[in-house]
Amino acid sequence: MDSIQEMDNSSISQDGVASHAPSSSSSTASRYENQKRRDWNTFMQYLKNHRPPLALSWCSGAHVLEFLRYLDRFGKTKVHTPICPFYGYPNPPAPCPCPFRQAWGSLDALIGRLRAAFEENGGKPEANPFGTRAVRLYLLEVRDLQSKARGISYEKKKRKRPSSAHQQTPSLPLPPPRPPPPGAC
Ligand SMILES: [Zn+2]
Repeated sequence: MDSIQEMDNSSISQDGVASHAPSSSSSTASRYENQKRRDWNTFMQYLKNHRPPLALSWCSGAHVLEFLRYLDRFGKTKVHTPICPFYGYPNPPAPCPCPFRQAWGSLDALIGRLRAAFEENGGKPEANPFGTRAVRLYLLEVRDLQSKARGISYEKKKRKRPSSAHQQTPSLPLPPPRPPPPGAC
């Protein structure tokens, strides 16, 4: 029993992005809005620090890709290169020198938020650099690369599994009801 629980815990902690448990649905919308505002500010800051300086109106899909590659510096998802012995293993048994990247899921969600923010801040949909073909293709490429490197098949993940193995979670026995303390009534 103990070993099963340990395995479950380790797989949850190494799952990265998916490990954030969603809280109550009422706060989801405002959390999304806050995250969108933060992402937009990050991007504006990036443009401000850009050398040579870059105005939003000059921003193209190529600049968005540059921004995404810059974010990889802060990534926490290990993406194995094809020559790594752990290529394709989601939970490698030892460290390796492969680079950390932003997980595809994070980038995909980020682009969605920035795309919305661009139009909310007065940008024209047809000039939206986050909706360009180059960005879409880049995200597909990252998804493909990461699914191969980590051994995750996104096609399989979408299918529903008929197995009910995970539903049989052992329920902890409830503590017996406490007797009322003497003199409570
Ligand atoms: Zn590796």
